[in-house]
Amino acid sequence: MSASFKEAQLRAQQLRNEIDHHSYLYYALNEPELSDSAFDSLLRELIDLEKQWPQIIVPTSPTQRVGGYVENNTFDSVQHSKRMYSLDNAMDLGELDAWLKRVSDAIGSNPKSLFDEELSYVCELKIDGSSIAITYSDGELKRAATRGDGLTGEDVTANIRTIRDIPLRLQQDISGEIEVRGEVYMPHASFDRLNVALEEEAQAAGKTPKLFANPRNAAAGSLRQKESRITATRDLASFIYAVAKDNNLPVSSQWELLQWLRKCGFHVNPSIALCKTAEEVHEFCKQAIDMRNDLPYDIDGVVVKVNSLNTQKQLGFTAKAPRWAIAFKFPPEEKTTVLRDIVVQVGRTGVLTPVAEFDPVLVTGSTVARATLHNLDEVKRKDVRIGDTIIIRKAGDVIPEVLKAVQSLRPGDTEVWQMPTNCPSCGSHVFKDEDGVAYRCVSSECPAQRLERLGHWVSRTAMDIDGLGAKIIEKLVANNLVVDVASFYNLTIDQLATLETGEEKYVRSLSAEKRALTGDYEKEPALLGTLMATKIHEQIQESKNRPPARVLFGLGIRNVGKTVAETLVRQFRTIDALRNATEEELTLIEGIGPVIAKTIRHFFDTSDNIRLIEELREAGLDLGKTSGDGSQDDTYQDLPQTLAGLTFVLTGSLENHTRDEAEEVLRSYGAKASGSVSSKTSYVVAGPGAGSKLAKAQQLGIKILDEDALDKILATGEPPQAI
Ligand code: AMP
Repeated sequence: MSASFKEAQLRAQQLRNEIDHHSYLYYALNEPELSDSAFDSLLRELIDLEKQWPQIIVPTSPTQRVGGYVENNTFDSVQHSKRMYSLDNAMDLGELDAWLKRVSDAIGSNPKSLFDEELSYVCELKIDGSSIAITYSDGELKRAATRGDGLTGEDVTANIRTIRDIPLRLQQDISGEIEVRGEVYMPHASFDRLNVALEEEAQAAGKTPKLFANPRNAAAGSLRQKESRITATRDLASFIYAVAKDNNLPVSSQWELLQWLRKCGFHVNPSIALCKTAEEVHEFCKQAIDMRNDLPYDIDGVVVKVNSLNTQKQLGFTAKAPRWAIAFKFPPEEKTTVLRDIVVQVGRTGVLTPVAEFDPVLVTGSTVARATLHNLDEVKRKDVRIGDTIIIRKAGDVIPEVLKAVQSLRPGDTEVWQMPTNCPSCGSHVFKDEDGVAYRCVSSECPAQRLERLGHWVSRTAMDIDGLGAKIIEKLVANNLVVDVASFYNLTIDQLATLETGEEKYVRSLSAEKRALTGDYEKEPALLGTLMATKIHEQIQESKNRPPARVLFGLGIRNVGKTVAETLVRQFRTIDALRNATEEELTLIEGIGPVIAKTIRHFFDTSDNIRLIEELREAGLDLGKTSGDGSQDDTYQDLPQTLAGLTFVLTGSLENHTRDEAEEVLRSYGAKASGSVSSKTSYVVAGPGAGSKLAKAQQLGIKILDEDALDKILATGEPPQAI
């Protein structure tokens, strides 16, 4: 132990320099000189010293990575010094060649071209993680931010500091500010460890485990942990490949920049190549495809960048991406598996959707066992039969899709699949839509439809009742506590509190000896409990204040989405007045065609629906006032513009929302919703039956989301990469 404060301070400084130097050798250069135990011993000495003399601790000390105490409730926003762009995609080598040609044409034809140098390109692996921008001030890590919408990100400094291959101090003397950019990722081994731990944790608490679907989500989730102490346990890692402004750097090319970043102490990916010809670029891409499955982390392509920084400047940016770089995306991974069953799901409006269930298979980073087959026509077109060996891939690397059956492996006894003639939920006869491909159960008593209708009523865009998930609703129905949406308003706290959630919890009632013998805890059905019940009850009461347009939308009348419901309430002011409107009167309103008019009339001509409306009135819901502006729906005003700058295209049918209504919510968060896919599209949300728009999006390499992802965006307002 050091004798004096001064000596302790000096020794600590020496130890920190030594530890930083060896971290640099280990992470940046991959040339460790010390054994792990010798390194740990240096760190141990520093920890002890700082414990004895807490005054000597500095924020850049390697002991400060584990954090542990930092707890943010919300992340501050950070305005990026320079926009964080995304990249344009090349979906095959042909598109890559087209880009190479565009670049050389642009440079060759530019009379102001200052460069005699030959065009060269740097090829890098495209790491499938979360982008990060890290600012250093006078060589010390000051701030780190996520990409967010590209202009504004979230301050995740405390979490970034826990990542061991990100230097807290640079190895080069750099005065002033510098901002580096790269990718934070979760190695496969860490990902597997994390999911096992989450599973064990959930089991011990008697809960269903919430696992991460893939390392990318796990990295993004870990970066946005509110407690950095948790991030520290997640074993994240980084690759750095850019600086925001290169004005004063001692480099003139991307290649030199990568070497320089390595010298500064950053972890730079070793698989890089400086290429002069298209053939060399192709070769790198092919090698990357080959090595993809052997790497200890996920990559989803190759990024090709113009090497000269001056030429990069000359080429500049489009609205969305640099012209001097392109992402060559890997062809979607295809896997074979065996189709075990085709089950039929019944949606809110009674549409029957066939869903393939197959042996679980790992495709592009996550295990899948189900995929929608959209409709009967699709099943016929693909000619997939139970027992077939089928080929699965992920559309846009997200939604699993059944491509086709391997005919040569078809067993002898397969049968052509048929849509059931009766609803699998209620047994009533199924009808085919006159004007479409959908088969539909039209029974108003169908339990599957009822569950979907109840779920729709409580959903965020309708009555917005938190805490009533599908499982709880199922239990409420099974216990006869809820038969229709009006029943929610009769529920008591007691009824809710004693409801079984369908999960089991461990009880510690067994004696220690017995536990030692059986090695297990006893389990019993988990109840919702008073706390949760009170919260849900409050939410239900609070939902009585929703404006009439939301009530109307919540009723789930076919073809009446959020926008139509608002139009109707604006016009008629009350649901009672709407109830008395004729089909002719309805079609006079702009935006209401004969099909909608007919379904509305049909709804109000059904006595059960009238009874339901009376019950809702009795429960105290707002069905509209004949005067005043009570019918104005201002629910979505003043929402934070978290999706500003993003353009969404919705295609295919959605189960939980109408397209209008989903678009409305996206707009309310500042996003644009467009009807056609172009290179300006940020995301395409593809539901069952998506066709040409989905194909175009895939061709352009636009990110594709499924309805689950859309639901999350609608519920939180957060852009997809942050979820
Ligand atoms: P995308 O999100 O598909 O538009 O792709 C752009 C993203 O790729 C960037 O925002 C980075 O986060 C990520 N990326 C991963 N590896 C690299 C790399 N080597 N160079 C540039 N960007 C990369």
